[in-house]
Amino acid sequence: MKQTQLFTKTRREAPKDEVAKNAQLLIRAGFIHKEMAGVYAYLPLGLRVMNKIVGIIREEMNAIGGQELHLTALQDKRVWEATNRWSDDVLDIWFKTKLKNNSEIGLGITHEEPLTNLMKDHIRSFRDLPIAVYQFQTKFRNEARAKSGIMRGREFLMKDLYSFNLDSASHEIFYEKAKQAYVNVFNRVGLGDKTYVTFASGGSFSKYSHEFQTVTDAGEDTIFVHEGKKIAVNKEVLNDEVLKDLNIEKGALIEKKAVEVGNIFNLGTKFSDALGLVYSDEKGTSKSVYMGSYGIGPGRVMGTIAEILSDEKGLIWPKAVAPFSIHLIALFGKDEKVKNSADELYAKLSAKGVEVLYDDRDATAGEKFSDSDLIGIPVRYIISEKTLANDSVEVKDRVTGNVEMVKISSL
Ligand code: ATP
Ligand code: MG
Repeated sequence: MKQTQLFTKTRREAPKDEVAKNAQLLIRAGFIHKEMAGVYAYLPLGLRVMNKIVGIIREEMNAIGGQELHLTALQDKRVWEATNRWSDDVLDIWFKTKLKNNSEIGLGITHEEPLTNLMKDHIRSFRDLPIAVYQFQTKFRNEARAKSGIMRGREFLMKDLYSFNLDSASHEIFYEKAKQAYVNVFNRVGLGDKTYVTFASGGSFSKYSHEFQTVTDAGEDTIFVHEGKKIAVNKEVLNDEVLKDLNIEKGALIEKKAVEVGNIFNLGTKFSDALGLVYSDEKGTSKSVYMGSYGIGPGRVMGTIAEILSDEKGLIWPKAVAPFSIHLIALFGKDEKVKNSADELYAKLSAKGVEVLYDDRDATAGEKFSDSDLIGIPVRYIISEKTLANDSVEVKDRVTGNVEMVKISSL
């Protein structure tokens, strides 16, 4: 893409009411727009990052047999009443509204209920199981505090996968596969070093659930990290029993602030019992389907990357999620020759399928460099009269700051 065609502008200052570093940087760089607290629009650069993250998650979910679908945001209250999750006394984060006939509906906060209900049309016998389905879908939650930028939205994208199994034993096998898929996701998006499988409260069907917590001061959770085992315990469940279960000493744990980027949960038969999702086994006996749920917030992942992998100059995207692979910067002034060579290089790279953002603007070197630092594409090619004298471009690594001259013919 040519930067003269990119409609978004960078800016020096973030809006005064924005306190989260991730949103400040992303707004300044033109990746997102703040509509109101906890509600953000994704602009072309931001959407490209989001789509990269979504693409990685999709690959990992497909690899464990997940089938993608798309459920509805508008929710009939009846399925939620069946599990006692409709009442505002039970869940105070609903956005609710009414149809013209006065019946109440809600904007989906999660999708266990409607999906369990839907599966009644498709699951009959033990032969129909196991099933795993997932979606990328907008959730609505009336969060009390929305001060963490895109890490805590009132409207946000969630990848939610749900598993349907015969029993607890077959559930466990899938659960372990999903856990590994999550480890792969966080490694691939560049958060692997700082993300810990964290033991958290489990509900009625298992002792623990597993959160994927990324260490950052911008996080709202407190975890206790065991570096040697690369695991952590959420403060909410830390006690002698957990330490014994995990065979760790309290003294080996370090307290850290962290953000929950993902969460996997054994739902047991809670939802299938409440909504009547059953199958008949080999003997014809009716049994409740055994379920699990597995969530990741791609926007929260993007916000976490912006928090952790940035410096005083701006964002620094890992290659796998960068909006473009290369930022091509042409320093031409009035020099037609440099502009022509840059145009030619841009065309060649694009033809090879390389994702290039080409700064073809009539702007000063200083403006181009500071915008480039802010936008954070990991590799920069600088082309100028000086580099062309050597038939070269200057290749600069945004992370290390290393610069080398590389012949255009060998790029
Ligand atoms: P939290 O405890 O942070 O409020 P949660 O436990 O309510 O999160 P889940 O219902 O488990 O979240 O949602 C699954 C995933 O969706 C989370 O792991 C997180 O990555 C993401 N997520 C949850 N709430 C938000 C939000 N308000 N904005 C952005 N992402 C979110
Ligand atoms: Mg959670």
